[in-house]
Amino acid sequence: MTLAAPTLTRLSNFINGHWVDSSAADWQEVINPATGETLAHVPLSNPSEVAGAVEAAAAAFPEWRRTPPEDRIQPLFKLKVLLENHLAELSRIISQENGKTLAEARAEMRRAIENVEVACGIPMMMQGYNLEDVARGIDETMIRQPLGVVAAIVPFNFPGMIAFWFLPYAIATGNTFILKPSERVPLTMRRIYELLEQTGLPKGVVNLVNGGKAAVDALLDHPKVRAISFVGSTPVARYIYARAGEKGKRAQCQGGAKNHVVIMPDADLASATQIVSDSAFGCAGQRCLAISVAVTIGDAQKRFRDAIAQAAAGLRVGNGLDEGVDMGPVITNESKSRIESLIGLGERQGAKVILDGRNVKIPQYQAGNFIKPTVLDGVPATSELSETEIFGPVLSLVHAEDLDEALAFLEHSAYGNQASLFTSSGALARRFRYEAPAGNIGINIGVAAPMAYFPFSGWKDSFFGVEHGQGRDSVEFYTEKKVVIERWAKEHSRKF
Ligand code: NAD
Repeated sequence: MTLAAPTLTRLSNFINGHWVDSSAADWQEVINPATGETLAHVPLSNPSEVAGAVEAAAAAFPEWRRTPPEDRIQPLFKLKVLLENHLAELSRIISQENGKTLAEARAEMRRAIENVEVACGIPMMMQGYNLEDVARGIDETMIRQPLGVVAAIVPFNFPGMIAFWFLPYAIATGNTFILKPSERVPLTMRRIYELLEQTGLPKGVVNLVNGGKAAVDALLDHPKVRAISFVGSTPVARYIYARAGEKGKRAQCQGGAKNHVVIMPDADLASATQIVSDSAFGCAGQRCLAISVAVTIGDAQKRFRDAIAQAAAGLRVGNGLDEGVDMGPVITNESKSRIESLIGLGERQGAKVILDGRNVKIPQYQAGNFIKPTVLDGVPATSELSETEIFGPVLSLVHAEDLDEALAFLEHSAYGNQASLFTSSGALARRFRYEAPAGNIGINIGVAAPMAYFPFSGWKDSFFGVEHGQGRDSVEFYTEKKVVIERWAKEHSRKF
């Protein structure tokens, strides 16, 4: 299916309540990764266009922050209904520009909607606290106030969901907002902003600027942008965190990942195999919570190896829009080449490729970026392959003698996005929960994605900052605390 509407050919920016043609000199093709067809052209907006969005957001802020929280959440209730009503359409756009299956796209949008629902609780979540008589006749109150203009920069792998870790909380707390979507998948957010237009939000409260590094740098450097939320790869997260800090901005930067699962001999192997297969190969391995290394303990080694290779081999790879497809393509041809060369590196480092997904062609989609599920056995635990984020449908199998050794592997990893354990022992589960050095822990869970009312808690090189995305952390991130200490003379109250 192609996006036929001619207006989609050259994408615009959404600034101050209007779709504005971009004056960018550079444009990039938006390519369907399953078919290779060009869906649209996206502008790599220049700093003056970013400045226009910042000025619009800054102008909208004084009135928006004075709008009662109860009124600020009304557009979010409308947005929830619009997103529900357009779920099928949005899922198709996600699948088309990102490649994931329709079922995965729908699941992504459900998570987006969940964040809208949680942000509707802002009138309670944003409350401060107080205490009378901190000294005789003196009262003290902590109130939360919005920051002003805030911005979010998001990656390609969840074109619909990740912006919602930020946007609903940012505006419900009284900030005005600018989104910079991934230039590889800008179509989903374009449609979502069209829906946002129907919610009655005042002009300038939500803005969208398409672009790449230049647009991001302009947001980082603009003095009126108070806070930056970022999700993407670790090198860029680190760069953005440093540059935002240099400019005096608050930042929360979620980075890349290399997620381990530990499989104990007492685990329910049939269920573990199914769940790990879904985690490693779902979304073609392009999830920051995808399991990438499976560490088997004791005699789980052989049983799991054979079972996972069989489960992975059974997955049907193709265009995510087609019925019966379990796994779509990876995002670009360059990603495909990079992933294939990492599999080759694993082989050279002594791993055995027991399921090889390289060099596949899907007959109807010769131009697609397809890799089939790949399983490497005997990967040295501290080799380059077991430490590098592959971000593709590749699972490395590592063996360890016991949980101590497995935990040491995890400790060694630079990343700390997620760690999972499969076991039937409560004591082992508790120990893992207590000691595993990652911020999202799964016990008999393959994708430990926190619900919207919990923080998305990456650690180590998977996160730079203090407050995470989603839930209560978002309220902390998007508000400034103010403490008021008051004394009123008694004589004054007696006059009335
Ligand atoms: P990316 O880092 O290439 O791009 C992310 C965003 O940053 C995009 O909007 C892009 O335009 C911008 N960008 C890219 N290079 C930049 C630069 N040099 N300077 C300024 N801005 C730049 O990431 P991606 O390839 O779109 O997404 C995949 C990565 O995101 C993976 O590493 C994955 O693990 C990570 N990710 C992390 C999480 C998480 O919650 N920790 C969630 C999803 C994805």
